[in-house]
Amino acid sequence: MSEKGTDRLDRYARQMRYAPVGEEGQRRLLASRALVCGCGALGSVLAGTLARAGVGKLRIVDRDFLELNNLQRQILFDEADVAGALPKAIAAAEKLRQINSTIEIEPIVADVDPGNILSLCNGCDVILDGTDNFETRFLINEAAIKLQIPWVYGGSIGAEGQTLTILPGQPPCFRCVMNEPPPPGTSPTCDTAGILGPIVNVIASIQACEAIKILSGHHEAVSRLLTVIDLWDNQVRQLNLDRLRSSAGCPTCASGRESADKFPWLTGQRGSRSAVLCGRNSVQLSQPTGEKPVDALSLDVLADKLSAVGQVTRNRYLVRASVGDYTITLFPDGRAIVGGTSEIAEARSVYAKYVGV
Ligand SMILES: [Zn+2]
Repeated sequence: MSEKGTDRLDRYARQMRYAPVGEEGQRRLLASRALVCGCGALGSVLAGTLARAGVGKLRIVDRDFLELNNLQRQILFDEADVAGALPKAIAAAEKLRQINSTIEIEPIVADVDPGNILSLCNGCDVILDGTDNFETRFLINEAAIKLQIPWVYGGSIGAEGQTLTILPGQPPCFRCVMNEPPPPGTSPTCDTAGILGPIVNVIASIQACEAIKILSGHHEAVSRLLTVIDLWDNQVRQLNLDRLRSSAGCPTCASGRESADKFPWLTGQRGSRSAVLCGRNSVQLSQPTGEKPVDALSLDVLADKLSAVGQVTRNRYLVRASVGDYTITLFPDGRAIVGGTSEIAEARSVYAKYVGV
């Protein structure tokens, strides 16, 4: 039998054989921590790839639970996870521990918001974007710049996807490139445009490789281009961002510049607390009661109350009620996800009607 330490490296033999990684790079990976923000389609590939690559600590945060139509593209999950109504972060952690039991997996069921993002990023060496919305990406961008942590943006819709790596102190940042989130309702979503599984795997694989470069100590190998790929139209484009390199017009990443507009998403000046969930015909209401997180007892009380009007499912992580055309899912952190509508106002009225305020 070999030493335990050697066993730990043996599983990465083929990766270490790749010269730029080597044993030194592998040891760096094992000593590093990555934050995967969102564990749906992109996040499944990100977390799975980084767990197999031996990133020593993976913190996985996701706000949602599994539904059957996720399985088409969210490759970490299976039908048993859907039947168990498990939060994605929890189901992902269980799978990842089967894939690699020697690393540390830290699942967190929460919405990434201005109140928790700095603590979520704390101690991380890279942040991976597995989210489905621009608000969270602008928030990640500001937290990453404030904490000087590299992050890798990724997004996909239809058969097209794009990715960009943002390095602290090396403009452009996400805001330099995107300027503003698209106005609500103007950009295609998974609901309107659909999504093909393969583009997710391509984009997330590029993101994961960028993370491996960063974590193994190879910032010089990181891409400085915005990469856009359309798998249906067979197009790969790489946009040179040199003209944005100065960051002169960007309040967020310009060094030494302190303006009230530096971190508008982080300070809560920008951003809403409720969101239409991409591809889900669902709306998330953040702590709709305006109260602090509910305890297990009050979730039980709510489960009893809802069982009078509909069919209720209860597990360790959530309470879910099917009432008429709607499903209402309540989390211990005070959030609710109302399924059966994409209208925030309708979701609020459903919540008020059945759960109360
Ligand atoms: Zn910038």
